[in-house]
Amino acid sequence: MTSTVLDMTTSASVPAGPGGAIPGDTVTDRLVEANERYAAAFTDPGMDARPVLGVAVVACMDARLDLHDALGLALGDCHTIRNAGGVVTDDVIRSLTISQRALGTRSVVLIHHTGCGLESLTEEFRHDLEMEVGQRPSWAVEAFRDVEQDVRQSMQRVRTSPFLLHTDDVRGFVFDVKTGLLREVDPA
Ligand SMILES: [Zn+2]
Repeated sequence: MTSTVLDMTTSASVPAGPGGAIPGDTVTDRLVEANERYAAAFTDPGMDARPVLGVAVVACMDARLDLHDALGLALGDCHTIRNAGGVVTDDVIRSLTISQRALGTRSVVLIHHTGCGLESLTEEFRHDLEMEVGQRPSWAVEAFRDVEQDVRQSMQRVRTSPFLLHTDDVRGFVFDVKTGLLREVDPA
């Protein structure tokens, strides 16, 4: 590596923010450094893209939900599809359709959780956003009050999708962020 490249790398660093970051280190820089350590210990598992357990997990993006640890999942086991709320949107159906038709999954697990940010929002959020930016978002906020009812609605959206090959093994759960336990939601 030439000194020119080193100089460019150094000058590209961003000063630390108020969060107490290491000088010259952004959050993303830390992630990239962690990846270098990860890659150093990594060996090619030699697997193809088809999930070993044939399952797709749709879950909220919540930072307190570590899907792999919480469900005992290993690398290559499943597809994970996450968004705000773990809502079954058209784009989640898109991913599930590809998961089932191109990559062989057959089971769907839906996971919402206690204390979800969507419980404190309403569709007013969308209205306020429109007022602020002058453009109505094309998406619904999908806010909810009753987490179990929301899981039921998500199960229903998966079960009734015409695009999916397998809708007989669809189960929904609420993850308790205080205990780490899953509680299954009765689909009825
Ligand atoms: Zn959430």
